[in-house]
Amino acid sequence: MIRPGKMIKQVLGSLFKKPATTEYPFHKKTLDVPARFRGKLKFYPEKCIGCNQCVRDCPSNAIKIRKVADKVFEADIDLGKCIYCAQCVDSCPKRALEATCEFELASIDREKLKVTFRDNTKIAPTK
Ligand code: SF4
Ligand code: SF4
Repeated sequence: MIRPGKMIKQVLGSLFKKPATTEYPFHKKTLDVPARFRGKLKFYPEKCIGCNQCVRDCPSNAIKIRKVADKVFEADIDLGKCIYCAQCVDSCPKRALEATCEFELASIDREKLKVTFRDNTKIAPTK
């Protein structure tokens, strides 16, 4: 049991210390996201060879690779299904997928979480 004298000393000492917590989302600049954080996925279409290894290894069925032209592939990623395990990143033999530090992905519209990555240098955007 903590004696009252010791407790008062601890309380007074805490009064002048900076809080250990961060007032998110009001102070975003103080957030220190670890370098190997597994956030929103990024796809590099120019590196993809369409092997579908990422699709086979995804435990959530969250990623699909589509061939849109000769040696040109697009990725459909459902961020609402994704569990951010980064298995697809590890499985890709061409480093065509990357887990970024982006974590603010909440949305009340599930359709907005379905993202298509396409190579706009090779394919005209669809309407
Ligand atoms: S991070 Fe995991 S759940 Fe998300 S698409 Fe990749 S393998 Fe699937
Ligand atoms: S594992 Fe990599 S190269 Fe293979 S289809 Fe997926 S993203 Fe493309």
